[in-house]
Amino acid sequence: MKDNTIVDPWRCINPARLMDIFIELVQIDSPSYNEREIASRLTKHLIELGLSVEFQQYGKSFNLIGRKHGKLRGVAPVMLSSHMDTVESTKGLKSIREGGVVKTDGGTILGADDKSGIAEILEALYVLKEQGLPHGDIEVVLTSAEERGLIGAQNLNFDSLKSRIALVLDCSGGIGRVVLAAPTHDIYEMHITGRAAHAGIEPERGTSAIKAAANIIAAVPDGRIDPNTTANIGTIQGGTATNIVPKEVTITGEIRSHDADAMQRTKNAIFDTARRLAKKNQVKIEIRENRQYHGFHISEADEFVGLIKNVCEDLLITPEFISYGGGSDANIYNRNGIKSLVISSGMQMPHTTDEYIKEEDLSKAALMLLGIIKALAADSKM
Ligand SMILES: [Zn+2]
Repeated sequence: MKDNTIVDPWRCINPARLMDIFIELVQIDSPSYNEREIASRLTKHLIELGLSVEFQQYGKSFNLIGRKHGKLRGVAPVMLSSHMDTVESTKGLKSIREGGVVKTDGGTILGADDKSGIAEILEALYVLKEQGLPHGDIEVVLTSAEERGLIGAQNLNFDSLKSRIALVLDCSGGIGRVVLAAPTHDIYEMHITGRAAHAGIEPERGTSAIKAAANIIAAVPDGRIDPNTTANIGTIQGGTATNIVPKEVTITGEIRSHDADAMQRTKNAIFDTARRLAKKNQVKIEIRENRQYHGFHISEADEFVGLIKNVCEDLLITPEFISYGGGSDANIYNRNGIKSLVISSGMQMPHTTDEYIKEEDLSKAALMLLGIIKALAADSKM
């Protein structure tokens, strides 16, 4: 029987090549601020793919930008982004392919966060080139030190980017997950100072900073404050020896919220409680706070979201629009005027040695990227 199926060139993923790229990338150790080696490998791919490459240097590292000019005019340029660093070193990584899944032997994390995203972007670009597909301009932004607080993204030269829409492949879970909202994230440090004294000879002269800190920690609101807001005290440090009434304690914590008012209310509640109890416990308190990043919220009615929904349906992928508790480079991009959606790269259980990815999800994510590039090429309004 003759096969009359017409192969859609936009779906001509090469799963073996995609897997090779993914394995090649996870073999390179690239903890935050150590992105040199992976970047030089990525540069080779980008140049082979016909992109111009720019290193944007900042303090401790750099970001890698690839630019591909499209033949189509009047098409919205799109930015595709992933981060090059992994949350920790993967030195000695042994990857295992088994039952349609890639994982490690348990000795290290896999680093699919975020190398799966990078591999998927590269595969989509290989298909574009191989099939000679028409598209608009594409900017590939590969950041560094994302895991240290979005450091690379914060140091991007936004004037050098012309895209006003971006896809950030940095969400875990099934393909089709799209993050429409992420919270604002603030961190704080409370420094408590009491009075030291010999604990055996004259404890009466001392004021315990640990006791005051314990009272404060027990009293401040934490955990899930409301559906949009969370708070946590993450570290406590202080005291010097068992025979000294402790003079100093430092507490660090964080607050995240999708709602600016709730953020402020929670912060006031925590800080006011801490100040009140410090006074009651006769210790000094100094509070410093720092905004890590601003949150974002994109409506499900947004046209870029609509376009992605259509692409998913076309590929028989069920879109799942979610609000996320964590931050990503998209928080920084959105703040800088680039409408950025975080989509799943298929990574599962990131930041653990159980991290894995399904082989088919690598292909599905690359297909989704191609689908979106195709849809943008057909949509002159975006
Ligand atoms: Zn990540």
